[in-house]
Amino acid sequence: MEHTSRLARDGLELRRLLNEFRFVYRIPIIFVSQNLRTDREQDLAIIKLFNIVDEQYVEAIRIATRRGLEGVLKEGRWVSVAPYGYRLVGKGVLEINEEEARVVKEIFERYANGEGMRSIVYDLNRRGVKPPKAKTWSQSSISNIIQRELYKGLFVWGKYKYFVDPITGRKKKVPQDNPVVVPVPHLKIVDEHIWEKANQRLREQRRTTKRVRKMHPLYQIVRCGHCGDFMGRDGNKLTCLNYRNKKTCDNPIRLDYQFLYKWLVGNLKQYILLNREKIEKIARNLKAKDKGYKEELTRMKAKLENLMELYAERPSPYLKEKIREYELKIEKLEELCKRQEAEFDFDKALRNLEKVLRLDATEANKILRMFVNEVVISEKHGIIDLRIKTTAPLSTVVGVKEMGCPGLEPGTCGLRVRRSAD
Ligand SMILES: [Zn+2]
Repeated sequence: MEHTSRLARDGLELRRLLNEFRFVYRIPIIFVSQNLRTDREQDLAIIKLFNIVDEQYVEAIRIATRRGLEGVLKEGRWVSVAPYGYRLVGKGVLEINEEEARVVKEIFERYANGEGMRSIVYDLNRRGVKPPKAKTWSQSSISNIIQRELYKGLFVWGKYKYFVDPITGRKKKVPQDNPVVVPVPHLKIVDEHIWEKANQRLREQRRTTKRVRKMHPLYQIVRCGHCGDFMGRDGNKLTCLNYRNKKTCDNPIRLDYQFLYKWLVGNLKQYILLNREKIEKIARNLKAKDKGYKEELTRMKAKLENLMELYAERPSPYLKEKIREYELKIEKLEELCKRQEAEFDFDKALRNLEKVLRLDATEANKILRMFVNEVVISEKHGIIDLRIKTTAPLSTVVGVKEMGCPGLEPGTCGLRVRRSAD
């Protein structure tokens, strides 16, 4: 590798990478221009120090790039792939794509005039209008279009800064103070006042849907067996949202929400009761293993300390090798302990399942997820097929991850219910 600045963006990432190469791949990294190696003990501290300097360096580059971008944008040149409604002609030169621009205009007008996003999406998909990137139009592709300033003739760059949250690993977007704004009137597709009207409505709707869109107990648990997406709650029914909102799925099932929910909880309880002994045994084994790992970890740590003391008195390549070996083992054990802690506490889980129907949606959802990985629902010839995949240790008991339905007999999967007329 050329330089330490190429390896990691921040200290956290650096430590992770160094450990991975050192302990997992056992490959040294060599930084050519600085003559540093990760397999030389004395170099490691210097590499970590360089990383702090590098963070500043990367930030400096970011600012410089932004200045460069500003220049390019000010000349009226685009710096990314052509957005929907345009095409790139030559380097960075955008031109309106008339066919797509008509769709953009239509979306703005219909939405600004009060038509629902769902109905616009449905209509575009029905007519087979080619969407921007994905296979079909969705509410998010519509709202992305409505928010794009380019359609009212403005280049806007740097409105948000994106970064990865080190704890959750999710991408986050933070508004920035001084975005670059360059007027490009020749790329205008919709009139300013329509643009504003549509965005005003979008902001208002966001505020209300945020309040209305509620968590429900089966949230992201039940999947549609036809399209594979999660099914959602629509009033007191459970239904495929792709069928309802986009008509991109052909699964018209509408199940009574409370019936399915109570049925699922009731059957889980019954299944656990029938297999209680086996499940408890497995849960106990998991716990015992957990205890074993912890004891092993304490032993290892004590040994490592002894080795370190020995090494301080009398350094030798052999001891150094041993120390590395122990460090590696300890790291693995710590990982195992962490994983075990997150595992199933059977008694507590069962107590929670008993009262799940009385809890609020968020809590109930959390508890159900301890038992159920997913429920897949599909329909053929008026017969509903329902498959439940349970979590460990329930799934371990039956040996298969899939669990049958009425009476929950292991192995048999599929509840056959005549679809009730609704
Ligand atoms: Zn579906």
